[in-house]
Amino acid sequence: MGLVAVAAIVLPALLAPVLPLKDPDITRLDQRLLPPLSEGFLLGTDSLGRDLLSRLLWGTRVSLAVALLGTGLAAAAGTLIGLAAAWYRRLVDALLMRGIDVLMAFPYLLLALSIVAVLGPGLRNATLAIALVNIPFFARTVRGAALSLREQEFLAAARLSGLSDARILATELLPNVLPLILVTLASTIGWMVLETAGLSFLGLGAQPPQADLGSMLGQGRVLLATASHVALLPGGVLFVLVVGLNLLGDGARDALDPRVSGTGADTLTPTLSRGEREFVRDHTVLRVSGLTTGFVSAGSFLPAVRKIDLVIRPGESVALVGESGSGKSLTALSLLGLIEPPGLILEGSIRLLGEELRGTPSSRLQRLRGRHIGYVPQDPMTSLNPLFTVGEQLIESLTVHQPLGREEARSRAISLLESVRIPDASRRLEAWPHELSGGMRQRVAIALALAHEPELLIADEPTTGLDVTTQAQVLDLLRELCQRKGTALLFITHDFGVVSELCERVVVLYAGEVVEEAATEVLLRNPRHPYTRRLLACVPRLGEPERTLEAIPGQPPRLEERPPGCAFAPRCTFAQPRCQQTPVVLSEHGTAHHVRCLRAGDEEEAA
Ligand code: ADP
Ligand code: MG
Repeated sequence: MGLVAVAAIVLPALLAPVLPLKDPDITRLDQRLLPPLSEGFLLGTDSLGRDLLSRLLWGTRVSLAVALLGTGLAAAAGTLIGLAAAWYRRLVDALLMRGIDVLMAFPYLLLALSIVAVLGPGLRNATLAIALVNIPFFARTVRGAALSLREQEFLAAARLSGLSDARILATELLPNVLPLILVTLASTIGWMVLETAGLSFLGLGAQPPQADLGSMLGQGRVLLATASHVALLPGGVLFVLVVGLNLLGDGARDALDPRVSGTGADTLTPTLSRGEREFVRDHTVLRVSGLTTGFVSAGSFLPAVRKIDLVIRPGESVALVGESGSGKSLTALSLLGLIEPPGLILEGSIRLLGEELRGTPSSRLQRLRGRHIGYVPQDPMTSLNPLFTVGEQLIESLTVHQPLGREEARSRAISLLESVRIPDASRRLEAWPHELSGGMRQRVAIALALAHEPELLIADEPTTGLDVTTQAQVLDLLRELCQRKGTALLFITHDFGVVSELCERVVVLYAGEVVEEAATEVLLRNPRHPYTRRLLACVPRLGEPERTLEAIPGQPPRLEERPPGCAFAPRCTFAQPRCQQTPVVLSEHGTAHHVRCLRAGDEEEAA
């Protein structure tokens, strides 16, 4: 609707030079105040006999130009000020922001009026005034966003790489605040049109004989009783234009703003029913078959997770192992239904407790997440919201799925914190995330994931950011919790050392494919796939200082450059020409020991 309203007014205005219009400034005193639809004057004439249609179209151009130019200038200057204040902080920030505060202390229009009073009336000065009074708006918005971006690692990395400040501001910070600036622009432009009209209405903007919407309104005002169309026409155009621009701005904000509104909490969670019978029969918590997830890029689909099969039974803990980039996180996100464009689940089935998750409406998925699948994300630093206390976050996640009273939720939260061995739990409830250490935060993340005692817990490298002692404690905790509550665990890691401590079964992933799967003991004792062997050779063992730890030469293939045969062949010391030619299938070698290697069979024959 906004687009239609704006287009209906802006398009004719843009076309004014080519339309067969009368000169907007020619006065014909014999044709004064003709009503609309008069002979030769479609919308009538004003008190000097000038053609209103022509003046309206030309006047709209002037109003729009002033508003756009003013907003553009305000956005540019405000962005510069905001970025500089956020980047340099301290004195620069203090000076700039106090200046902005002074500007903001004056009522909006009054300030614009006084600026024009000093500079003198006229369109150029009105534009400057409008730009100036709107700088604070942009400066504050940009500063806020830039301040929080400033703390992020990629900016620290940019600084460490020796880029100049100007370069960082222009190439790192600016592109990140640009969507925000556009949204702000879109939502202010309507106001700017009104302000421009306001100044012109008071005779401080467009000067006679030039028309703009505000000055036309001002001239028509005195004739309201006798020839109301002279004022109503520009007023109507202004109204439709501003409402249209605001609607358009709101639409743009909804489209560009990442904080899309979610659906409300649904406390009436029914327990699983559709799949329950099947679950009892099948006795699996999770059954994934043929899962293929990847990215759409330049019109083609690049699979990053290929035809993965995975079964997890109640209480079982399964490790998903592979080097960075092998598709572990993507698998986890697929299971949670959190793949977003350009990502795409191409095919496969994901059954949680017997219920197919693919194609399930997102409202249903939202009820399953947290309640039946818990997720511990990789980075304990970013998995908690810095603006809420630990207690508020725990209580929120508790009350999302269960109709608990405030006090009840609070005591549940305390016992959750105690269950992840956080000492002095009731006091910790009031703590902010930044007051906790990394290990402590990861425990809170685990407590959040376990709040509803889900049947399946997915932990994506939960200990990667932690030191070794804390890692050991967190692992202990996970193991104990899973044993005590019978929770099935999918533990994602790149570290075989961790696997042996925690998991009963291991699935090794390479370039998005399962290359080997077996019980942990079997796999550690008798790894069959050359990749698994190389991975195991990278694990240091205490008491064997002389053992060399060999890195695996080469890199995993990039998504778009996958070899036709075995994906590991280019890095494999056992590879033969036939390995490069056709895809290798996963085959069973020994009980429940699956290997995707042509040479695994050779060894058996030799034995
Ligand atoms: P990891 O095993 O380290 O968790 P991921 O599952 O995060 O690996 O990534 C798997 C593959 O998908 C990698 O090759 C990565 O480059 C690719 N990938 C991840 N996110 C994107 C994205 N948004 N666009 C394109 N490729 C991606
Ligand atoms: Mg990952």
